Amino acid sequence: MRLQFVGAAREVTGSAHLVHLDGRTILLDCGLFQGRRSEVNAKNRRLPYAVDRIDAVVLSHAHIDHAGRLPFLVKEGYTGPVHCTPATRDLCEVMLADSAHIQEKDADFLRRHRKELVQPLYALRDVSTLMNQMRPHRYRERFEVVPGVWARYMDAGHILGSASVTLEWEEDGTMRRLGFSGDVGRSGLAIIGDPEPLEDVDWMIMESTYGDRDHTSVEGARAELGRVVRETVGRGGRVLIPAFAVGRTQELLYNLHQLHDAGEIPRVPIVIDSPLASEATAVFRENTTIFDVSEAMVRKHDKDRAAIFDFDLVQFTPTVEESKAMMRRSGPMIVIAASGMVEAGRILHHLAYSAGDPRSTVLIVGFQAEHTLGRRIVERREIIKVFGEEIPLRAQVEVINGYSAHADRTGLASWLDAARASSPRLADVFLVHGEPPAQDALAARLTERGYAVSAPEPGTVVTR
Ligand SMILES: [Zn+2]
Repeated sequence: MRLQFVGAAREVTGSAHLVHLDGRTILLDCGLFQGRRSEVNAKNRRLPYAVDRIDAVVLSHAHIDHAGRLPFLVKEGYTGPVHCTPATRDLCEVMLADSAHIQEKDADFLRRHRKELVQPLYALRDVSTLMNQMRPHRYRERFEVVPGVWARYMDAGHILGSASVTLEWEEDGTMRRLGFSGDVGRSGLAIIGDPEPLEDVDWMIMESTYGDRDHTSVEGARAELGRVVRETVGRGGRVLIPAFAVGRTQELLYNLHQLHDAGEIPRVPIVIDSPLASEATAVFRENTTIFDVSEAMVRKHDKDRAAIFDFDLVQFTPTVEESKAMMRRSGPMIVIAASGMVEAGRILHHLAYSAGDPRSTVLIVGFQAEHTLGRRIVERREIIKVFGEEIPLRAQVEVINGYSAHADRTGLASWLDAARASSPRLADVFLVHGEPPAQDALAARLTERGYAVSAPEPGTVVTR
């Protein structure tokens, strides 16, 4: 086995790892690099590997930093299968269409305003082509990836349809298994199931996003959300929540539903201002069989689980007209809009409108990568740039880390320990998907617990 770390190596975006086995090549994830345009553009246009030499893609989940370059791979000539779970397929359909749309708009913006000629990385037709190549498999179902190599998805408990995966093959009469964590979620997250451990693995590729910190609890996050809403509405301001349209938005909505039922938030409009979030919520409604039935609200609505998203304050504003009309309405409201890292999408319009208002709050509920506007807001810069305009940031900034869909350092270590319990031969742990400080801290912690850990630099090749 030869592993090649070609993305999300010493960083958190662009997930892509190559597994070479017996002349076959499997690509784990094919994510988009995100961050400063000038830096990621070239990286995104460089293929992870020659397309005609990739035999199969095994996708962990639908997040753009894991799936966002698949249409490019297809555009460049990849015709093989892309394995995934059914919900991942459904989410990819809406998320990648959105990604294609954003890239076309960006290219158009650069052409018109900066006279730069940039081709979009891919277009909608590439997403359609990709959809025909996707091969959905349910959790725990064993399937053949390439002749002689099998895989099995387990629930990663991170977003709807997210999976960790084990690849297995026979070597000199022994079954060998490579585990890939994908993004590890958290126990107790709203709606989705809890992370399941991988079993009997020889090597593990594991994410490390929050390898250097612990989160506040899931329940603590909901209580904080209630506090921020009450305080902001009390000032007469708006709560702006930049959130991933997929996963985080539905989770917030679910929590607001719980807070509302418990009488813990005032009755103000809750605006889900993102066409993608509307579509993603529809995907959730189609995939209720994998909802976490251990949760009270899911059980309460067991006859129609999709009803967990429905209560009278919620308003979806899919069209630009509805969105603008809503923004111009006076009075407090809660706005949940994409993008999660404040790099694009309607949240920018809301920021342009409300960032200067000290009564309002920008509530950050997700990881903010370096060089993103979201990170600059977390750092409470006095001036932020929105659509090229400088705007004073006078709104309050609140950060709730408890909303992370990623395991924290304790969760990652426990997840790995659970895998080790059934893995007598577990040798190496390769940390991916983390910034160096998080990776180094986690590596030290895991080394103390007896693991052989490394955090491969981009391009590193490892033979085992
Ligand atoms: Zn993810």
